[in-house]
Amino acid sequence: MNTQTIHRVTHEIKRRRLEVLRVMDITPRMRRITLGGPELAGFVSLGSDDHIKLLFPQNAAEQAALESPAFSIKGDGPQPAMRDYTPRRYDPSSGELDIDFVLHGDGPASTWAEQVQVGQHLYIGGPRGSMIVPDIFDSYWLIGDETALPAIGRRLEELPAGRKVLAVIEIANAAEQQTLHSAADVEVVWVIRGQDDLIETLRHLTPPSGLLYCFVATETKLSRQVRRVLLDTHKVNEEYLKAWATGGPRAAKKSKPSKTLKINCGSWLACDSGGSGTSFCLIHRYRRQASFHNYRTRFRKLSRPTTINAITTNPAKIPPAFTNTCG
Ligand SMILES: Cc1cc2nc3c(=O)[nH]c(=O)nc-3n(C[C@H](O)[C@H](O)[C@H](O)COP(=O)(O)OP(=O)(O)OC[C@H]3O[C@@H](n4cnc5c(N)ncnc54)[C@H](O)[C@@H]3O)c2cc1C
Repeated sequence: MNTQTIHRVTHEIKRRRLEVLRVMDITPRMRRITLGGPELAGFVSLGSDDHIKLLFPQNAAEQAALESPAFSIKGDGPQPAMRDYTPRRYDPSSGELDIDFVLHGDGPASTWAEQVQVGQHLYIGGPRGSMIVPDIFDSYWLIGDETALPAIGRRLEELPAGRKVLAVIEIANAAEQQTLHSAADVEVVWVIRGQDDLIETLRHLTPPSGLLYCFVATETKLSRQVRRVLLDTHKVNEEYLKAWATGGPRAAKKSKPSKTLKINCGSWLACDSGGSGTSFCLIHRYRRQASFHNYRTRFRKLSRPTTINAITTNPAKIPPAFTNTCG
């Protein structure tokens, strides 16, 4: 393998039960939770935009399943809610893992982070792999919302001196600005959601010179628009452009369930790793893009009748493969 190109390294997936060691608010809406404990030994996170699964059981059956030695993230049976988070800092010498949570006031992850106390436990899984971006670039253009700030902040800390970085970060309000540390030469543009226009801001910026790596992490539709601006207006090299969808703040506005589906025990449900209503919505989108098979999609046989919220603006468009399984 040529390690001087962008490449992916896979890791053994392991479930770990970690203990909350510290809780610190970085800004009013961003909370850093430091985890540790013996099961953190052997944790690996090689890429600054790695993600791990955080597992949040919602009832006694999910808690029992999670605590069983037979539990598998891909397995049948009760599955806790799973959410993607970035390992913000991992220090094997102190045995500490930091995760930064946006406190957005809804959902299993955010509500857990809001009530968290030192001494509580959290199960994590992964990372499944790391995208390695070798130090071959002169400059970096990093664009994201606050859910991408952990990945952007970590990359800035990992970059050496002599690299140029333009970071454009969309936040809810000015109080969400963080102090970001880096040996590189960094310019940060903070974009206030509802007040500034991220796309217009990007159109008018000049990317740093030299061989450029671009990272985009915002809500799906916005990420697509950002990509287009980078490719069409700024002519960046697509090979060096990585874009994720965070399902973050803007997605919240659209997450109004428009149809509830009851799915019978024994049916197969397609879902991404979370298996929530939001996942169903994503699959609907992936299917429309004819690419859902190659992302994180998997199929789960339901061990009990399940109700899901089909979050789509047009329930008539739910693919027959899904409606056929509905009771
Ligand atoms: C690869 C990757 C890495 C990520 N890393 C991080 C990270 O390090 N830190 C982090 O905080 N998030 C991160 N996220 C985003 C995080 O996974 C989602 O925000 C997730 O939906 C939060 O789960 P929840 O249980 O709190 O809310 P959910 O149950 O998923 O959602 C409940 C409601 O809240 C809305 N919502 C979800 N997230 C936000 C938000 N940020 N702001 C406003 N509304 C929201 C949803 O649209 C929905 O209406 C990452 C996402 C990805 C894909």
